[in-house]
Amino acid sequence: MINSKRLWDNLITLGEIGKQETGGITRLGFTEEEKEALRFVRILMEKAGLKVREDAVGNIIGRKEGTNPDAPTVLMGSHIDSVINGGIFDGNLGILAGIEVLQTMNEQNISTKHPLEVYAFRDEEGCRFGFSSFGSRSAAGIVRQENFDYKDKDGLTIREVLKNNGLNPEEYKQAARKPEEIKAYLELHPEQGKVLECKNLSVGIVTGIASSLRLKVTIIGSTDHAGATPMELRKDSLTAAAEIILIIEKEASNTEDAVGTVGRIEAFPGGVNIIPGKVEFTIDLRDLSAEVGKELEDRIMKQAIEVCKKRGVEIEFEELQRVPPAPCDPEIISMMEKGCQGIDIPVFKLPSGAGHDAMQIINICPIGMIFVRSKDGISHHPDEWSSYEDCSKGAELLYETVLKLAIKEKVNNLAAL
Ligand SMILES: [Zn+2]
Repeated sequence: MINSKRLWDNLITLGEIGKQETGGITRLGFTEEEKEALRFVRILMEKAGLKVREDAVGNIIGRKEGTNPDAPTVLMGSHIDSVINGGIFDGNLGILAGIEVLQTMNEQNISTKHPLEVYAFRDEEGCRFGFSSFGSRSAAGIVRQENFDYKDKDGLTIREVLKNNGLNPEEYKQAARKPEEIKAYLELHPEQGKVLECKNLSVGIVTGIASSLRLKVTIIGSTDHAGATPMELRKDSLTAAAEIILIIEKEASNTEDAVGTVGRIEAFPGGVNIIPGKVEFTIDLRDLSAEVGKELEDRIMKQAIEVCKKRGVEIEFEELQRVPPAPCDPEIISMMEKGCQGIDIPVFKLPSGAGHDAMQIINICPIGMIFVRSKDGISHHPDEWSSYEDCSKGAELLYETVLKLAIKEKVNNLAAL
């Protein structure tokens, strides 16, 4: 059993770092607040008996050796940064639960065949440079030179900021882990939605992280006088957009696991008495399966083109972002299911609509994720909350999963070491 009180106390203490007057925390990537939080995490890792190091891009890693030093390492972790005015659980929970698991193992003299490491990843939210998951992308070996030219609002590049943090940006490739040296990655995270709360469950097993497609759509009609133009002579780009938005809603609703959102729309020129000649809006589509997601996208595009043809307006699509889905490993999911039975909590599985560090780490190893119930589904907000009991149960399940995945050694083997 993990020490629930210690985990909770650490969450509350870490939640003070970067605290604002609003009660939320602001701890952006490579700021003093993020560094202070990392110093706290480093102390906890050392107290837990871990060997601590900082990699080439500033991620902090605590390691517990396995009985077989050549066996690939099982990773845990999450991110240390926050959004502007965010909550105290997002990211922090995964790091602190990972440390708690390893501290408990050390206290109980439990060894595993595989080495274990817990990561505190930097700048996952991407609020500072508009580039998400810098730390975990680096560990996964998928950052590129040009990413280091991204600037924050003060014009500082990632490259400059790394230098100011005492890091050498030219050495970033050293942060990349070799796939053959890593067995798996586990991340505990608040759900950031209402599914677990609606089901009245503390914890859920994540089936995968949904793909994310972001499109910008432009519809060009005709800008005409709202009074002088009869209905049948109009080429109203906004009514075309309205029809398309309802198609997105219908098609996403009829596709299991999929979600579709139009979060931003603007009509031009934007006058009360002018028929909008141009509309721009965004589409955000997510699905757990690349194939199903592509079919959904194709169905929406086909119907959108038909709508525009019928209405005599033009439509253009611009792809802003396309991230493939990251399915969780079936073997890890089954270990988690057994883990749930072991600690007497119901097995419930759900997809993740939001992105996480695991989405990057899947490039080097299989991943598994556990969600903890979020009160009212609130996240990225000072009111973000997961209860003491729920955090504790999530960490217990992480512990159970780690013992299976990293292969717990029999106690009588320890004497032989
Ligand atoms: Zn997060």
